[in-house]
Amino acid sequence: MYNETCHQLGVKRNCIRELFEFGRQRAAVVGAENVFDYSLGNPSLPAPPEVNRAIHDILNEEDSLSVHGYTSNIGDYEARAAVARDLNQRFGTDARPEEIFLTCGAAPALIAVLRALAVEDGEVLAIAPYFTEYKPFAERSGLRFRLVPPDIPDFQIKLDAVEAMLTPHTQALILNSPNNPSGVVYTRKTLTELAALLERKEREYGHPIYILSDEPYRELAYGVEVPFIPCIYADTVVCYSYSKCLSIPGERLGYVYVPRRCADGEQLYWTVTGAARASGHICAPSIWQRVLVRCSKLTPDLQSYDRARTLLYESLKDMGYRCAKPDGAFYIFVEAPGGDAAAFSERAKKKDLLVVPGGDFGCASYFRLCYCIPYEKIERSLPLFRELMDECRAEGLV
Ligand code: PLP
Repeated sequence: MYNETCHQLGVKRNCIRELFEFGRQRAAVVGAENVFDYSLGNPSLPAPPEVNRAIHDILNEEDSLSVHGYTSNIGDYEARAAVARDLNQRFGTDARPEEIFLTCGAAPALIAVLRALAVEDGEVLAIAPYFTEYKPFAERSGLRFRLVPPDIPDFQIKLDAVEAMLTPHTQALILNSPNNPSGVVYTRKTLTELAALLERKEREYGHPIYILSDEPYRELAYGVEVPFIPCIYADTVVCYSYSKCLSIPGERLGYVYVPRRCADGEQLYWTVTGAARASGHICAPSIWQRVLVRCSKLTPDLQSYDRARTLLYESLKDMGYRCAKPDGAFYIFVEAPGGDAAAFSERAKKKDLLVVPGGDFGCASYFRLCYCIPYEKIERSLPLFRELMDECRAEGLV
């Protein structure tokens, strides 16, 4: 006997992985240079040299037993203090090490917070388009997952739809800005209005509704403000990851920030750490905690992402594609000519151009492009996008 839901999660690849595997097979046949794989969100910038230097220095300078040993469950004090200091410098907050819990990336951070909020009949909302893993994370934590429809074409937040979906059972709303898959950054206006709505509903229901702010792309923004949500809405818990900003997704480092001043702040912090303990998600990698002490202030050099983003966005627009304005992350979300992104993705596959249809993200008429691929490859893929648009036009789809 085994759990069938988990079995399905194990055996069924999501469509991003399917495309990625397809790309590998095609590369073996036609050559990797002829496959244009926009599927997977893997950073294409190398980790900053300071990070590699820090690892060497730690191995040379620090005691090997403690470098490779267990840390405290919640993370070493110095590393949590570095995170708090960094937040305070960047956002003028008053974060303290006691409010930080180090994790193995954003995924376990999200799971710990969701589990901490899982009460009987509890519900969590997410905004489409959304990171597909939220659903299994929430449901396997015991929460009912509900999706707020997308705000097409700007991909901000439909406040009336949020209001209609809030119930006395709503425990939290997951936000992700800059957003995967849209690349959109929620504006201060959107967030301020959302905060006012949630505060009103908190008063009406008589209990907190937390914003769970999932921020792996916080540092990846191109000339726009990414408002820090705890400064706008008090009952915000932050889940952060260093995967994208330091280009270390395989190393697994992130944190949960539970400000003490949010509702039941101290109890919630310890509940999050308890939930993580119950799933064995404690004690983030020791060597990376030490890197954090030395490198917490680093921000990525976004030039190459920005160059790729500008080329792709401007070229697609010129060809007649409609895209959400991609101000952050490393994704562009494009409306499929004809409105059926699954069909468009199949059509593109025939040209070895791999684009992810948005159905799994909660927006079936758009497809996602991750532009973490070499610039010259983007250049060589442009004629294929043009051919696809011409075909769709010839068939009267646009
Ligand atoms: N949240 C979003 C929106 C993501 O895109 C990702 C990874 O791509 C994660 C969370 C998980 O991040 P991590 O690698 O830190 O677990």
